[in-house]
Amino acid sequence: MGAAVIIWLIGMIIFFFFLYLVVQSAIDNTTMAGNIQEIKDLLQEMKSSRVQAASQQNDENTPADLETAAYEDCPACGNRVRVTDKTCPDCGLTLHSDSEN
Ligand SMILES: [Zn+2]
Repeated sequence: MGAAVIIWLIGMIIFFFFLYLVVQSAIDNTTMAGNIQEIKDLLQEMKSSRVQAASQQNDENTPADLETAAYEDCPACGNRVRVTDKTCPDCGLTLHSDSEN
């Protein structure tokens, strides 16, 4: 009789110990998942800000390639035209008036 109670008690202790472990690991998983999500968001933010900074740098600095630097997009049709062209060869839009420079 006494031995059975002790075995039952040990069984209950083991059961609650495992229950505790399961609950603890579940809590750890949720907090871990939240942390990972936070890290992901942070990395994405850093990446997007870095891309923005890079694109801004590209906008400020004229491209090093002279071939591309000598060209620009027509504001009307988007056709690639030479900077030296006064009119767009595609749509005929006046790109640079003579009075300018
Ligand atoms: Zn054009």
